[in-house]
Amino acid sequence: MELVHTVEGFRKALDGERCAGRTIGLVPTMGALHDGHLSLVRRAVQECDAVATTIFVNPLQFAPGEDLDRYPRDLERDRSLAEAAGSRYLFAPSEREIYPREPLARVTAAAIEDSLEATSRPGHLDGVATVVTKLFALAGPCRAYFGEKDYQQLAVVRGLVIDLSFPVEVVACPTVRAPDGLALSSRNAYLTDAERRAAPVLYRALSAGEACIESGERDPTTVSRVMRDFVGTEPSVRVDYAEARPGDQEWRLFVAAWVGTTRLIDNIAVPVGAGPLGAGPVRS
Ligand code: AMP
Repeated sequence: MELVHTVEGFRKALDGERCAGRTIGLVPTMGALHDGHLSLVRRAVQECDAVATTIFVNPLQFAPGEDLDRYPRDLERDRSLAEAAGSRYLFAPSEREIYPREPLARVTAAAIEDSLEATSRPGHLDGVATVVTKLFALAGPCRAYFGEKDYQQLAVVRGLVIDLSFPVEVVACPTVRAPDGLALSSRNAYLTDAERRAAPVLYRALSAGEACIESGERDPTTVSRVMRDFVGTEPSVRVDYAEARPGDQEWRLFVAAWVGTTRLIDNIAVPVGAGPLGAGPVRS
């Protein structure tokens, strides 16, 4: 695996791969790699000739007072994990390499202004849109792999590709969970043992919402309240939002909550299309 630190080096490497007739798989991350990230890398390796994993803790997507400074960073560990998963390149630029100056041009994600994360973390999804735009501009034609764990981010990225005509095929990958249901996240590293034991309440709340829909409930407010109340059963966890978004074929259930000083998010899909009570559960 080749470690690349510069924008020019990254562009040249991927241009070279394409010139040699190889397809590119791009896996953007903020590092502190875990099995969720590696599932994206492995999928990309299956579907593309050369995979590039990127690691950049993007300051634009953190608000003042958020966890930018304490975000876990361990390049050596990430390097061996990405290599073992089959990544051909690891692009790990410095902040100065990506933002050599205060950016004049930024991307805003206007269409998702009413989304839950946009409301809870103003500017966050715009920061994501800006850095993903830069990565797409550098990488060139490719398939890009994103996790459904960050479902609203995925919606923004899909929107970018349509609105800004990137030659990128976005591939959505299912959420990887710990055996107790907790979605894997780099931020889980912040949790104390007691918090780690409490954290699966997010997933259990989503499952309670799912059970509610499967028993025939079709009022999103009721389903949202069931999830919110469920999170409330865990005294050490404070809900940020719990919301059911209905759709024709499936509903999406979203939860964000504070476990101590750590903010975690999760979501699942619940199919409702086939028959009055919906099809069986399909997890993502
Ligand atoms: P992050 O490093 O948190 O920015 O995540 C990088 C990519 O990995 C994003 O596309 C995430 O959606 C994805 N990802 C993070 N956690 C998981 C998970 N538990 N399962 C699947 N994908 C994930």
